[in-house]
Amino acid sequence: MIIGIIGSGAMGAGIAQVAATAGHTVHLLDQTAEALVRAEQGIQLSLNKLAEKGKLTAEAVGATMTNLQFTKDYQDFAGCELVLEAIVEDLATKQQVFKQVESVVSAECVLASNTSSLLITSLAAACQRPERFIGIHFFNPAPLMQLVEVIPAVQTRLGLTDEIKQLMQQWGKLPVLAQDTPGFIVNRVARLFYGEAIRMLEEGLADAATIDWAMTELGGFRMGPFALMDFIGHDVNYRVTESVFTAFFYDPRYKPSFTQKRLFEAGYLGRKSGRGFYDYR
Ligand code: NAD
Repeated sequence: MIIGIIGSGAMGAGIAQVAATAGHTVHLLDQTAEALVRAEQGIQLSLNKLAEKGKLTAEAVGATMTNLQFTKDYQDFAGCELVLEAIVEDLATKQQVFKQVESVVSAECVLASNTSSLLITSLAAACQRPERFIGIHFFNPAPLMQLVEVIPAVQTRLGLTDEIKQLMQQWGKLPVLAQDTPGFIVNRVARLFYGEAIRMLEEGLADAATIDWAMTELGGFRMGPFALMDFIGHDVNYRVTESVFTAFFYDPRYKPSFTQKRLFEAGYLGRKSGRGFYDYR
């Protein structure tokens, strides 16, 4: 199976790695050459680490890298059977990208989005053939996280959900069916987790490190809310919060915070920029 992935950031690169490791030819597309170089280096590093831990053989590392093609040209998607998008969390930009994809791929090619918060139905609605559209939502880092939410749109053809669930199982993932509502399962719960933690910080109840410590050491969570938001990136996380809030018709439970907005606008994006709630420099 030939697969196209759009966006070679944290998620796109991770998903490309998973698909290439499963034996597919993968065309990974981004709008900048720099993003593609970063992705190639990141995937190589990630595969090397897996090999060091004995989870992949040196041959498998080589074969995976050979399966990956890096491109800026949509024409390379011509033979793809599945194209999955993982670009910026913005409805209009994603819809525009799928128009470009549909002008190149065959009528049978499945189209998928890794969106965290936008309605799959809204993305499908902008396509000429919305019945081949579906949500496939991975978690970060995609090569390590097993859960994948599979989200059919209202328009998705019967049978496609099961086909994608089977494909995810072949990739070693644990797919779960989710309804097409903002944030699906995990991100809906996570909005309240992050929101309440930020409210506690703003109220001066405790600092970020203390709240994170309480959640990991006492609560048994793998990561505390502030460390996790820094890991996801405040650009991605702020956009997802805004999008879920809007999509739930401004339900105040999902309201973004000024703390989040300020971090985003200052460019304090978390780990990826060296500074967020914590300082990584
Ligand atoms: P990111 O910022 O790391 O990467 C996005 C990439 O998309 C960048 O390389 C950028 O150059 C590229 N891009 C942007 N617009 C483009 C366009 N028009 N055409 C081609 N490439 C374009 O973002 P990310 O964290 O990988 O998130 C991507 C998507 O995955 C978002 O929809 C996000 O909501 C979703 N998601 C993120 C996470 C997470 O934890 N980061 C988890 C699950 C899903």
